[in-house]
Amino acid sequence: MSRPAAAIVILGTGSLATARRIQQIYPTSLIYGLAERVAGADRVYTDFGANLRQLYAQDTPIIALCAAGIVIRTLAPLLLEKGAEPPVLAVAEDASAVVPLLGGLSGVNDLAREIAAGLGIAPAISTSGELRFGTCLLNPPSGYVLGDVELGKRFVSDLLAGESVRIEGDAPWLDSAQLPEHRDARLAIHVGSEAREPVADELRIYPRNVLVKVNAVVSAHTVGDVLREAKVAWQSLACVVAGESLMADIQLREVATELGVPLRFATDDDDFAEQSVAWSEPVNAVTVGVAPVPLVIERLGRARGRLAVIGLGPGAAELMVPAVKAELERANDVLGYETYVRMAGPFRNDQVLHCTDNREEMQRARHAFELATQGRSVVVVSSGDPGVFAMAAAVLEALHESNNPLWHSVDLEILPGVSASLATAAQAGAPLGHDFCVMSLSDNLKPWAIIEKRLDLAAEADLALAFYNPISRSRPWQLGVALDIVARHRLPATPVVLGRDIGRPGQTLRVTTLGALTPDQVDMRTMVIIGSSTTCAFRRADGLEWVYTPRWYGQKP
Ligand code: SAH
Repeated sequence: MSRPAAAIVILGTGSLATARRIQQIYPTSLIYGLAERVAGADRVYTDFGANLRQLYAQDTPIIALCAAGIVIRTLAPLLLEKGAEPPVLAVAEDASAVVPLLGGLSGVNDLAREIAAGLGIAPAISTSGELRFGTCLLNPPSGYVLGDVELGKRFVSDLLAGESVRIEGDAPWLDSAQLPEHRDARLAIHVGSEAREPVADELRIYPRNVLVKVNAVVSAHTVGDVLREAKVAWQSLACVVAGESLMADIQLREVATELGVPLRFATDDDDFAEQSVAWSEPVNAVTVGVAPVPLVIERLGRARGRLAVIGLGPGAAELMVPAVKAELERANDVLGYETYVRMAGPFRNDQVLHCTDNREEMQRARHAFELATQGRSVVVVSSGDPGVFAMAAAVLEALHESNNPLWHSVDLEILPGVSASLATAAQAGAPLGHDFCVMSLSDNLKPWAIIEKRLDLAAEADLALAFYNPISRSRPWQLGVALDIVARHRLPATPVVLGRDIGRPGQTLRVTTLGALTPDQVDMRTMVIIGSSTTCAFRRADGLEWVYTPRWYGQKP
Protein backbone atom coordinates (compact mmCIF):
# COMPACT_ATOMS: atom_id res chain seq x y z
CA MET A 1 0.00 0.00 0.00
CA SER A 2 1.34 3.46 -0.82
CA ARG A 3 2.04 5.71 2.15
CA PRO A 4 -0.41 8.60 2.23
CA ALA A 5 0.73 12.18 2.76
CA ALA A 6 -1.61 12.60 5.70
CA ALA A 7 -2.25 15.62 7.89
CA ILE A 8 -1.60 14.87 11.55
CA VAL A 9 -3.59 17.53 13.36
CA ILE A 10 -2.79 18.42 16.98
CA LEU A 11 -4.18 20.98 19.39
CA GLY A 12 -1.43 21.11 22.00
CA THR A 13 2.22 20.36 22.65
CA GLY A 14 1.15 17.32 24.72
CA SER A 15 0.26 15.53 21.47
CA LEU A 16 3.53 16.24 19.70
CA ALA A 17 5.30 13.05 20.80
CA THR A 18 2.50 10.79 19.54
CA ALA A 19 2.24 12.87 16.36
CA ARG A 20 5.92 12.31 15.69
CA ARG A 21 5.55 8.55 16.16
CA ILE A 22 2.74 8.52 13.59
CA GLN A 23 4.84 10.67 11.26
CA GLN A 24 7.49 7.96 11.36
CA ILE A 25 4.92 5.52 10.00
CA TYR A 26 3.99 7.97 7.22
CA PRO A 27 7.14 9.95 6.51
CA THR A 28 5.50 12.19 3.89
CA SER A 29 2.81 13.34 6.32
CA LEU A 30 2.89 16.75 7.98
CA ILE A 31 2.04 17.78 11.52
CA TYR A 32 -0.43 20.67 11.78
CA GLY A 33 -0.31 22.51 15.10
CA LEU A 34 -2.58 25.16 16.60
CA ALA A 35 -0.60 28.41 16.26
CA GLU A 36 -0.95 29.66 19.83
CA ARG A 37 -0.36 26.30 21.55
CA VAL A 38 2.14 24.29 19.53
CA ALA A 39 5.75 25.08 18.76
CA GLY A 40 7.62 22.86 16.35
CA ALA A 41 4.79 21.70 14.07
CA ASP A 42 5.39 21.48 10.30
CA ARG A 43 2.38 23.66 9.55
CA VAL A 44 0.42 26.00 11.77
CA TYR A 45 -3.27 26.84 11.75
CA THR A 46 -5.31 29.33 13.74
CA ASP A 47 -8.84 27.93 13.37
CA PHE A 48 -9.21 24.20 14.10
CA GLY A 49 -12.56 23.81 12.33
CA ALA A 50 -11.62 25.75 9.22
CA ASN A 51 -8.34 23.87 8.94
CA LEU A 52 -9.95 20.45 9.34
CA ARG A 53 -12.70 21.21 6.84
CA GLN A 54 -10.21 22.50 4.32
CA LEU A 55 -8.06 19.37 4.62
CA TYR A 56 -11.16 17.21 4.25
CA ALA A 57 -12.35 19.15 1.20
CA GLN A 58 -8.90 18.71 -0.37
CA ASP A 59 -9.13 14.93 0.18
CA THR A 60 -6.17 14.89 2.55
CA PRO A 61 -6.16 11.89 4.91
CA ILE A 62 -6.68 13.28 8.42
CA ILE A 63 -5.25 11.86 11.63
CA ALA A 64 -6.57 14.07 14.42
CA LEU A 65 -5.11 13.74 17.89
CA CYS A 66 -8.23 14.68 19.80
CA ALA A 67 -11.65 13.37 20.83
CA ALA A 68 -13.55 11.57 18.06
CA GLY A 69 -16.60 13.70 18.86
CA ILE A 70 -14.79 16.94 18.08
CA VAL A 71 -13.78 15.64 14.68
CA ILE A 72 -17.28 14.36 13.89
CA ARG A 73 -18.94 17.62 14.91
CA THR A 74 -16.43 19.65 12.91
CA LEU A 75 -16.84 17.67 9.69
CA ALA A 76 -20.57 16.92 10.05
CA PRO A 77 -21.76 19.81 7.86
CA LEU A 78 -19.66 18.48 4.95
CA LEU A 79 -20.55 14.81 5.17
CA LEU A 80 -23.75 14.72 3.16
CA GLU A 81 -22.37 16.62 0.21
CA LYS A 82 -19.33 14.57 -0.40
CA GLY A 83 -19.27 11.48 -2.60
CA ALA A 84 -15.74 10.25 -2.04
CA GLU A 85 -14.04 11.04 1.23
CA PRO A 86 -10.50 10.79 2.57
CA PRO A 87 -9.69 8.56 5.54
CA VAL A 88 -10.32 10.37 8.85
CA LEU A 89 -9.12 8.93 12.17
CA ALA A 90 -9.07 10.07 15.77
CA VAL A 91 -6.06 9.05 17.83
CA ALA A 92 -5.81 9.47 21.61
CA GLU A 93 -3.03 11.92 22.45
CA ASP A 94 -1.38 9.36 24.76
CA ALA A 95 -1.31 6.87 21.86
CA SER A 96 -3.69 4.48 23.64
CA ALA A 97 -6.45 4.37 21.00
CA VAL A 98 -6.89 4.59 17.20
CA VAL A 99 -10.43 5.12 15.97
CA PRO A 100 -11.23 5.06 12.24
CA LEU A 101 -14.09 7.53 11.68
CA LEU A 102 -14.65 8.11 7.98
CA GLY A 103 -13.38 6.88 4.65
CA GLY A 104 -14.24 3.18 4.76
CA LEU A 105 -13.96 3.11 1.00
CA SER A 106 -10.63 4.88 0.97
CA GLY A 107 -8.82 2.57 3.33
CA VAL A 108 -9.36 4.13 6.74
CA ASN A 109 -9.24 0.70 8.40
CA ASP A 110 -5.91 -0.08 6.73
CA LEU A 111 -4.55 3.15 8.16
CA ALA A 112 -5.98 2.33 11.57
CA ARG A 113 -4.27 -1.06 11.51
CA GLU A 114 -0.94 0.44 10.40
CA ILE A 115 -1.01 3.18 13.02
CA ALA A 116 -2.09 0.73 15.71
CA ALA A 117 0.74 -1.62 14.76
CA GLY A 118 3.19 1.28 14.93
CA LEU A 119 1.91 2.34 18.35
CA GLY A 120 1.67 -1.22 19.65
CA ILE A 121 -2.07 -1.17 20.34
CA ALA A 122 -5.26 -2.66 18.85
CA PRO A 123 -7.24 -0.54 16.35
CA ALA A 124 -10.90 0.15 17.14
CA ILE A 125 -12.26 -1.38 13.92
CA SER A 126 -16.02 -1.81 13.84
CA THR A 127 -16.71 -2.74 10.21
CA SER A 128 -18.37 -6.20 10.40
CA GLY A 129 -17.46 -7.37 6.91
CA GLU A 130 -13.89 -6.46 7.43
CA LEU A 131 -13.65 -8.14 10.81
CA ARG A 132 -15.24 -11.31 9.48
CA PHE A 133 -13.48 -11.57 6.10
CA GLY A 134 -10.23 -9.81 6.91
CA THR A 135 -10.64 -7.45 3.96
CA CYS A 136 -12.96 -4.70 2.86
CA LEU A 137 -14.59 -6.03 -0.31
CA LEU A 138 -15.81 -2.55 -1.12
CA ASN A 139 -12.31 -1.14 -1.12
CA PRO A 140 -10.22 -3.12 -3.60
CA PRO A 141 -6.51 -2.23 -3.77
CA SER A 142 -5.22 0.48 -6.05
CA GLY A 143 -5.40 -0.54 -9.69
CA TYR A 144 -8.91 -1.97 -9.20
CA VAL A 145 -12.28 -0.28 -8.97
CA LEU A 146 -15.55 -1.49 -7.55
CA GLY A 147 -18.40 -1.42 -10.07
CA ASP A 148 -21.28 -0.44 -7.80
CA VAL A 149 -20.98 0.51 -4.14
CA GLU A 150 -24.67 0.10 -3.30
CA LEU A 151 -24.73 -3.35 -4.84
CA GLY A 152 -21.54 -4.08 -2.94
CA LYS A 153 -23.06 -3.18 0.39
CA ARG A 154 -25.96 -5.56 -0.21
CA PHE A 155 -23.48 -8.20 -1.33
CA VAL A 156 -21.45 -7.91 1.86
CA SER A 157 -24.53 -8.05 4.04
CA ASP A 158 -25.63 -11.22 2.19
CA LEU A 159 -22.25 -12.75 2.94
CA LEU A 160 -22.53 -11.71 6.57
CA ALA A 161 -25.93 -13.38 6.66
CA GLY A 162 -24.28 -16.66 5.74
CA GLU A 163 -24.17 -16.86 1.94
CA SER A 164 -21.09 -18.21 0.19
CA VAL A 165 -19.33 -16.74 -2.82
CA ARG A 166 -17.40 -17.66 -6.00
CA ILE A 167 -14.45 -15.69 -7.29
CA GLU A 168 -14.10 -15.37 -11.06
CA GLY A 169 -11.00 -13.85 -12.58
CA ASP A 170 -7.79 -12.70 -11.01
CA ALA A 171 -8.11 -11.21 -7.51
CA PRO A 172 -4.71 -11.75 -5.88
CA TRP A 173 -5.52 -9.60 -2.86
CA LEU A 174 -8.43 -11.90 -1.95
CA ASP A 175 -6.11 -14.92 -1.60
CA SER A 176 -5.42 -14.04 2.00
CA ALA A 177 -9.02 -13.09 2.84
CA GLN A 178 -11.27 -15.43 4.79
CA LEU A 179 -14.21 -15.43 2.38
CA PRO A 180 -16.83 -18.20 2.57
CA GLU A 181 -15.90 -19.53 -0.87
CA HIS A 182 -17.83 -22.22 -2.63
CA ARG A 183 -17.73 -23.38 -6.27
CA ASP A 184 -21.50 -23.42 -6.65
CA ALA A 185 -22.26 -20.26 -4.71
CA ARG A 186 -25.12 -18.07 -5.95
CA LEU A 187 -23.05 -14.92 -5.35
CA ALA A 188 -19.99 -14.21 -7.48
CA ILE A 189 -17.20 -11.69 -7.40
CA HIS A 190 -16.12 -11.09 -10.97
CA VAL A 191 -12.80 -9.43 -11.73
CA GLY A 192 -12.29 -8.48 -15.38
CA SER A 193 -12.33 -5.68 -17.92
CA GLU A 194 -14.66 -7.12 -20.56
CA ALA A 195 -17.85 -5.21 -21.30
CA ARG A 196 -20.98 -7.25 -20.80
CA GLU A 197 -24.54 -7.04 -19.58
CA PRO A 198 -24.91 -6.93 -15.79
CA VAL A 199 -25.48 -10.35 -14.27
CA ALA A 200 -27.62 -10.86 -11.18
CA ASP A 201 -25.87 -11.71 -7.89
CA GLU A 202 -22.55 -10.54 -9.22
CA LEU A 203 -20.18 -8.00 -7.71
CA ARG A 204 -17.97 -6.60 -10.44
CA ILE A 205 -14.48 -5.37 -9.79
CA TYR A 206 -12.68 -3.80 -12.74
CA PRO A 207 -8.91 -3.92 -13.11
CA ARG A 208 -7.54 -0.63 -14.46
CA ASN A 209 -5.69 -2.38 -17.24
CA VAL A 210 -6.92 -0.55 -20.34
CA LEU A 211 -5.52 2.47 -22.11
CA VAL A 212 -6.40 4.34 -25.25
CA LYS A 213 -3.77 5.84 -27.51
CA VAL A 214 -4.92 8.79 -29.59
CA ASN A 215 -3.16 10.27 -32.64
CA ALA A 216 -5.41 13.29 -32.84
CA VAL A 217 -7.83 15.19 -30.65
CA VAL A 218 -10.97 13.07 -30.36
CA SER A 219 -14.08 13.48 -28.22
CA ALA A 220 -14.79 11.51 -25.05
CA HIS A 221 -17.80 10.19 -26.93
CA THR A 222 -15.58 8.70 -29.65
CA VAL A 223 -13.38 7.07 -27.03
CA GLY A 224 -16.50 5.56 -25.45
CA ASP A 225 -17.65 4.21 -28.84
CA VAL A 226 -14.28 2.66 -29.58
CA LEU A 227 -14.15 1.00 -26.15
CA ARG A 228 -17.62 -0.42 -26.70
CA GLU A 229 -16.60 -1.68 -30.13
CA ALA A 230 -13.56 -3.38 -28.54
CA LYS A 231 -15.88 -4.92 -25.90
CA VAL A 232 -13.94 -3.31 -23.11
CA ALA A 233 -15.60 -1.83 -20.01
CA TRP A 234 -15.05 1.92 -19.63
CA GLN A 235 -14.56 1.38 -15.90
CA SER A 236 -11.28 -0.36 -16.71
CA LEU A 237 -9.86 2.62 -18.59
CA ALA A 238 -6.69 3.68 -16.77
CA CYS A 239 -5.39 6.50 -18.95
CA VAL A 240 -5.31 8.27 -22.27
CA VAL A 241 -1.95 8.35 -24.02
CA ALA A 242 -1.11 10.87 -26.74
CA GLY A 243 1.92 11.98 -28.73
CA GLU A 244 4.05 14.77 -27.32
CA SER A 245 2.91 17.19 -30.04
CA LEU A 246 -0.50 17.21 -28.31
CA MET A 247 0.93 18.11 -24.92
CA ALA A 248 -0.37 21.68 -24.82
CA ASP A 249 -3.76 20.81 -26.32
CA ILE A 250 -6.55 22.11 -24.11
CA GLN A 251 -9.33 20.07 -25.73
CA LEU A 252 -7.50 16.81 -25.20
CA ARG A 253 -6.99 17.69 -21.55
CA GLU A 254 -10.73 18.29 -21.24
CA VAL A 255 -11.44 14.92 -22.85
CA ALA A 256 -9.24 13.16 -20.28
CA THR A 257 -10.97 15.04 -17.47
CA GLU A 258 -14.34 14.06 -18.87
CA LEU A 259 -13.24 10.43 -18.99
CA GLY A 260 -11.90 10.79 -15.45
CA VAL A 261 -8.43 9.42 -16.24
CA PRO A 262 -4.93 10.87 -16.39
CA LEU A 263 -3.42 12.01 -19.68
CA ARG A 264 0.08 10.76 -20.48
CA PHE A 265 2.46 11.46 -23.32
CA ALA A 266 4.59 8.79 -24.87
CA THR A 267 6.57 8.33 -28.02
CA ASP A 268 8.35 5.18 -27.02
CA ASP A 269 6.60 1.85 -27.59
CA ASP A 270 8.93 0.16 -25.10
CA ASP A 271 6.81 1.59 -22.29
CA PHE A 272 3.82 -0.39 -23.55
CA ALA A 273 5.79 -3.53 -24.31
CA GLU A 274 7.16 -3.55 -20.77
CA GLN A 275 3.61 -3.84 -19.45
CA SER A 276 2.60 -6.38 -22.13
CA VAL A 277 -0.08 -4.18 -23.67
CA ALA A 278 -1.99 -5.93 -26.47
CA TRP A 279 -3.41 -3.54 -29.07
CA SER A 280 -6.55 -3.75 -31.15
CA GLU A 281 -6.87 -2.21 -34.63
CA PRO A 282 -7.01 1.61 -34.59
CA VAL A 283 -10.46 3.12 -35.14
CA ASN A 284 -10.94 6.86 -35.74
CA ALA A 285 -7.44 7.74 -34.47
CA VAL A 286 -8.06 5.73 -31.29
CA THR A 287 -6.29 2.48 -30.43
CA VAL A 288 -7.33 0.40 -27.43
CA GLY A 289 -4.63 -1.41 -25.49
CA VAL A 290 -5.26 -4.02 -22.80
CA ALA A 291 -2.67 -5.25 -20.31
CA PRO A 292 -2.93 -8.51 -18.36
CA VAL A 293 -2.82 -6.71 -14.99
CA PRO A 294 -3.53 -3.14 -13.82
CA LEU A 295 -1.32 -0.59 -15.58
CA VAL A 296 1.43 1.24 -13.75
CA ILE A 297 0.57 4.66 -15.11
CA GLU A 298 3.73 6.36 -13.85
CA ARG A 299 5.69 4.08 -16.16
CA LEU A 300 3.77 5.04 -19.30
CA GLY A 301 5.55 7.97 -20.94
CA ARG A 302 5.12 11.03 -18.80
CA ALA A 303 2.64 13.59 -17.60
CA ARG A 304 2.53 17.14 -18.92
CA GLY A 305 5.01 18.94 -16.73
CA ARG A 306 4.05 21.86 -14.56
CA LEU A 307 6.05 24.91 -13.65
CA ALA A 308 4.71 27.34 -11.09
CA VAL A 309 6.51 30.53 -10.18
CA ILE A 310 5.29 31.39 -6.73
CA GLY A 311 5.53 34.27 -4.30
CA LEU A 312 5.96 33.38 -0.64
CA GLY A 313 4.89 36.78 0.61
CA PRO A 314 7.18 38.63 3.00
CA GLY A 315 7.79 35.63 5.24
CA ALA A 316 5.00 34.93 7.72
CA ALA A 317 2.99 31.81 6.84
CA GLU A 318 -0.33 33.63 7.30
CA LEU A 319 0.60 36.02 4.53
CA MET A 320 1.15 33.23 2.00
CA VAL A 321 -1.82 32.79 -0.34
CA PRO A 322 -3.55 29.37 -0.18
CA ALA A 323 -2.87 28.66 -3.87
CA VAL A 324 0.85 28.92 -3.16
CA LYS A 325 0.58 26.55 -0.19
CA ALA A 326 -1.26 24.03 -2.36
CA GLU A 327 1.39 24.39 -5.08
CA LEU A 328 4.17 23.69 -2.59
CA GLU A 329 2.35 20.54 -1.49
CA ARG A 330 2.19 19.16 -5.02
CA ALA A 331 5.75 20.09 -5.99
CA ASN A 332 8.27 17.41 -6.94
CA ASP A 333 11.09 19.93 -7.33
CA VAL A 334 11.66 23.26 -5.66
CA LEU A 335 14.15 25.77 -7.05
CA GLY A 336 15.32 29.06 -5.68
CA TYR A 337 17.70 31.07 -3.64
CA GLU A 338 18.50 28.99 -0.58
CA THR A 339 17.06 31.47 1.95
CA TYR A 340 13.70 31.47 0.17
CA VAL A 341 13.61 27.72 -0.37
CA ARG A 342 14.17 27.27 3.34
CA MET A 343 11.42 29.81 4.04
CA ALA A 344 9.03 27.79 1.84
CA GLY A 345 9.60 24.55 3.80
CA PRO A 346 9.50 22.22 5.56
CA PHE A 347 9.36 19.76 2.69
CA ARG A 348 8.65 16.07 2.53
CA ASN A 349 11.61 13.85 1.89
CA ASP A 350 10.26 12.91 -1.56
CA GLN A 351 10.56 16.55 -2.67
CA VAL A 352 13.83 17.56 -4.33
CA LEU A 353 15.33 20.92 -3.43
CA HIS A 354 17.61 22.78 -5.85
CA CYS A 355 19.17 25.70 -4.01
CA THR A 356 21.18 28.18 -6.04
CA ASP A 357 22.88 31.50 -5.65
CA ASN A 358 20.67 34.57 -5.87
CA ARG A 359 22.32 35.78 -9.05
CA GLU A 360 21.87 32.70 -11.22
CA GLU A 361 18.33 33.58 -12.21
CA MET A 362 18.39 32.73 -15.93
CA GLN A 363 20.18 29.47 -15.30
CA ARG A 364 17.64 28.58 -12.62
CA ALA A 365 14.77 29.41 -14.97
CA ARG A 366 16.18 27.13 -17.68
CA HIS A 367 16.80 24.36 -15.18
CA ALA A 368 13.15 24.65 -14.09
CA PHE A 369 11.94 24.08 -17.66
CA GLU A 370 14.28 21.10 -18.08
CA LEU A 371 12.77 19.48 -14.99
CA ALA A 372 9.21 20.34 -15.98
CA THR A 373 9.59 18.79 -19.44
CA GLN A 374 10.36 15.49 -17.72
CA GLY A 375 6.76 15.58 -16.51
CA ARG A 376 7.58 16.82 -13.03
CA SER A 377 5.75 19.40 -10.99
CA VAL A 378 8.26 22.20 -10.46
CA VAL A 379 8.09 25.25 -8.24
CA VAL A 380 10.35 28.27 -8.51
CA VAL A 381 10.22 30.36 -5.35
CA SER A 382 10.53 34.10 -4.91
CA SER A 383 9.94 36.14 -1.81
CA GLY A 384 7.09 38.62 -1.86
CA ASP A 385 5.53 38.58 -5.31
CA PRO A 386 7.32 36.65 -8.07
CA GLY A 387 6.50 39.36 -10.60
CA VAL A 388 8.15 42.16 -8.59
CA PHE A 389 11.93 42.21 -9.17
CA ALA A 390 11.93 38.44 -9.00
CA MET A 391 11.77 35.13 -10.85
CA ALA A 392 8.59 35.39 -12.95
CA ALA A 393 10.13 37.71 -15.53
CA ALA A 394 13.29 35.57 -15.69
CA VAL A 395 11.23 32.44 -16.31
CA LEU A 396 9.23 34.13 -19.07
CA GLU A 397 12.40 35.52 -20.63
CA ALA A 398 13.90 32.03 -20.72
CA LEU A 399 10.75 30.67 -22.34
CA HIS A 400 10.59 33.53 -24.85
CA GLU A 401 14.18 32.82 -25.89
CA SER A 402 13.58 29.10 -26.29
CA ASN A 403 12.29 27.40 -29.42
CA ASN A 404 12.00 24.05 -27.69
CA PRO A 405 8.34 23.06 -28.21
CA LEU A 406 8.46 20.95 -25.05
CA TRP A 407 9.22 24.03 -22.96
CA HIS A 408 6.28 25.81 -24.53
CA SER A 409 4.00 22.85 -23.71
CA VAL A 410 4.72 23.05 -19.99
CA ASP A 411 1.77 24.00 -17.81
CA LEU A 412 3.18 27.34 -16.65
CA GLU A 413 1.51 29.43 -13.97
CA ILE A 414 2.56 32.45 -11.95
CA LEU A 415 1.07 32.60 -8.44
CA PRO A 416 1.14 35.98 -6.72
CA GLY A 417 2.33 36.89 -3.26
CA VAL A 418 2.24 39.87 -0.93
CA SER A 419 5.08 42.10 -2.05
CA ALA A 420 7.39 43.72 0.51
CA SER A 421 6.14 47.23 -0.29
CA LEU A 422 2.55 46.20 0.42
CA ALA A 423 3.39 44.22 3.56
CA THR A 424 5.43 47.16 4.90
CA ALA A 425 2.79 49.72 3.93
CA ALA A 426 0.08 47.72 5.71
CA GLN A 427 2.03 47.68 8.95
CA ALA A 428 2.62 51.42 8.79
CA GLY A 429 -0.95 52.29 7.83
CA ALA A 430 -1.57 53.32 4.23
CA PRO A 431 1.41 55.29 2.88
CA LEU A 432 0.62 53.92 -0.59
CA GLY A 433 -3.05 54.95 -0.33
CA HIS A 434 -2.74 57.23 -3.37
CA ASP A 435 -0.70 56.96 -6.61
CA PHE A 436 2.75 55.58 -6.02
CA CYS A 437 5.85 54.41 -7.82
CA VAL A 438 7.80 51.23 -7.19
CA MET A 439 11.50 51.17 -8.04
CA SER A 440 14.48 48.96 -7.53
CA LEU A 441 17.57 51.01 -6.76
CA SER A 442 19.84 48.23 -7.96
CA ASP A 443 21.94 49.17 -10.98
CA ASN A 444 23.06 45.59 -11.56
CA LEU A 445 20.72 45.13 -14.53
CA LYS A 446 20.09 48.74 -15.59
CA PRO A 447 22.25 51.84 -15.95
CA TRP A 448 22.38 54.18 -12.98
CA ALA A 449 21.48 57.09 -15.26
CA ILE A 450 17.98 55.72 -15.93
CA ILE A 451 17.45 55.25 -12.20
CA GLU A 452 18.35 58.89 -11.59
CA LYS A 453 16.02 60.02 -14.36
CA ARG A 454 13.08 57.96 -13.09
CA LEU A 455 13.65 59.09 -9.50
CA ASP A 456 13.70 62.70 -10.58
CA LEU A 457 10.51 62.42 -12.64
CA ALA A 458 8.63 60.30 -10.09
CA ALA A 459 9.54 62.68 -7.29
CA GLU A 460 8.56 65.66 -9.44
CA ALA A 461 5.23 63.95 -10.24
CA ASP A 462 4.62 63.84 -6.47
CA LEU A 463 4.21 60.08 -6.35
CA ALA A 464 4.85 58.23 -3.09
CA LEU A 465 7.96 56.08 -3.63
CA ALA A 466 8.69 52.48 -2.63
CA PHE A 467 12.32 51.41 -2.97
CA TYR A 468 13.33 47.78 -3.34
CA ASN A 469 17.02 46.79 -3.17
CA PRO A 470 17.85 50.19 -1.64
CA ILE A 471 21.49 49.46 -0.79
CA SER A 472 24.04 46.66 -0.63
CA ARG A 473 27.72 46.17 0.07
CA SER A 474 28.52 46.36 -3.63
CA ARG A 475 26.25 49.42 -4.09
CA PRO A 476 27.10 51.61 -1.09
CA TRP A 477 26.63 55.15 -2.48
CA GLN A 478 23.54 54.90 -4.67
CA LEU A 479 20.92 55.40 -1.92
CA GLY A 480 22.51 58.67 -0.80
CA VAL A 481 22.36 60.04 -4.34
CA ALA A 482 18.77 58.85 -4.71
CA LEU A 483 17.72 60.64 -1.52
CA ASP A 484 19.38 63.86 -2.74
CA ILE A 485 17.35 63.69 -5.94
CA VAL A 486 14.10 63.12 -4.06
CA ALA A 487 14.94 65.97 -1.64
CA ARG A 488 14.93 68.39 -4.58
CA HIS A 489 11.16 67.87 -4.79
CA ARG A 490 10.08 67.02 -1.22
CA LEU A 491 10.16 68.77 2.15
CA PRO A 492 12.42 67.42 4.93
CA ALA A 493 9.29 66.69 7.03
CA THR A 494 7.98 64.18 4.45
CA PRO A 495 7.17 60.92 6.29
CA VAL A 496 9.38 57.91 5.55
CA VAL A 497 8.67 54.28 6.49
CA LEU A 498 11.48 51.77 6.91
CA GLY A 499 10.39 48.15 7.12
CA ARG A 500 13.09 45.58 7.80
CA ASP A 501 12.48 41.82 7.64
CA ILE A 502 8.76 42.48 7.63
CA GLY A 503 6.81 39.30 8.37
CA ARG A 504 10.01 37.53 9.47
CA PRO A 505 11.51 36.92 12.88
CA GLY A 506 12.98 40.12 14.33
CA GLN A 507 11.06 42.43 12.02
CA THR A 508 11.36 46.18 12.63
CA LEU A 509 9.24 49.05 11.45
CA ARG A 510 10.40 52.65 11.79
CA VAL A 511 8.71 55.87 10.88
CA THR A 512 11.02 58.82 10.27
CA THR A 513 11.27 61.79 7.91
CA LEU A 514 13.13 62.48 4.71
CA GLY A 515 15.25 65.07 6.49
CA ALA A 516 16.32 62.60 9.18
CA LEU A 517 16.89 59.64 6.84
CA THR A 518 20.48 58.59 6.22
CA PRO A 519 21.68 55.55 4.20
CA ASP A 520 23.21 53.91 7.27
CA GLN A 521 19.67 53.32 8.65
CA VAL A 522 18.96 51.11 5.66
CA ASP A 523 20.27 47.72 4.50
CA MET A 524 19.38 45.29 1.75
CA ARG A 525 16.64 43.69 3.88
CA THR A 526 14.86 47.01 4.21
CA MET A 527 11.93 48.42 2.28
CA VAL A 528 12.00 52.22 2.01
CA ILE A 529 8.73 54.08 1.50
CA ILE A 530 8.91 57.84 1.01
CA GLY A 531 5.66 59.76 1.22
CA SER A 532 4.35 62.31 -1.27
CA SER A 533 3.49 65.91 -0.40
CA THR A 534 0.12 64.76 1.00
CA THR A 535 1.39 61.86 3.13
CA CYS A 536 0.86 62.47 6.82
CA ALA A 537 1.65 60.80 10.12
CA PHE A 538 -0.01 60.85 13.55
CA ARG A 539 0.44 59.11 16.86
CA ARG A 540 -1.37 55.90 17.52
CA ALA A 541 -2.69 54.92 20.92
CA ASP A 542 0.24 52.56 21.54
CA GLY A 543 2.80 55.33 21.02
CA LEU A 544 3.80 54.25 17.50
CA GLU A 545 2.74 56.20 14.46
CA TRP A 546 0.24 55.76 11.67
CA VAL A 547 1.28 56.95 8.22
CA TYR A 548 -1.16 57.40 5.38
CA THR A 549 -1.57 59.14 2.05
CA PRO A 550 -5.14 60.34 1.55
CA ARG A 551 -7.08 59.04 -1.43
CA TRP A 552 -7.73 62.59 -2.69
CA TYR A 553 -5.31 65.15 -4.08
CA GLY A 554 -5.52 68.95 -4.04
CA GLN A 555 -8.77 69.99 -2.38
CA LYS A 556 -10.20 67.66 0.30
CA PRO A 557 -13.61 66.64 -1.14
N1 SAH B 1 9.87 39.87 -5.00
C1 SAH B 1 10.16 40.59 -3.78
C2 SAH B 1 11.20 41.65 -3.94
C3 SAH B 1 12.56 41.15 -4.29
S1 SAH B 1 13.75 42.44 -4.34
C4 SAH B 1 8.85 41.19 -3.27
O1 SAH B 1 7.88 41.28 -4.02
O2 SAH B 1 8.81 41.59 -2.09
C5 SAH B 1 14.45 42.32 -2.75
C6 SAH B 1 14.16 43.56 -1.92
O3 SAH B 1 12.83 43.53 -1.46
C7 SAH B 1 15.00 43.70 -0.67
O4 SAH B 1 16.24 44.33 -0.97
C8 SAH B 1 14.13 44.57 0.20
O5 SAH B 1 14.23 45.91 -0.20
C9 SAH B 1 12.74 44.10 -0.17
N2 SAH B 1 12.23 43.08 0.75
C10 SAH B 1 11.98 41.79 0.46
N3 SAH B 1 11.47 41.16 1.52
C11 SAH B 1 11.38 42.07 2.52
C12 SAH B 1 10.89 42.04 3.86
N4 SAH B 1 10.40 40.91 4.38
N5 SAH B 1 10.94 43.18 4.58
C13 SAH B 1 11.40 44.30 4.04
N6 SAH B 1 11.85 44.39 2.78
C14 SAH B 1 11.85 43.30 2.03
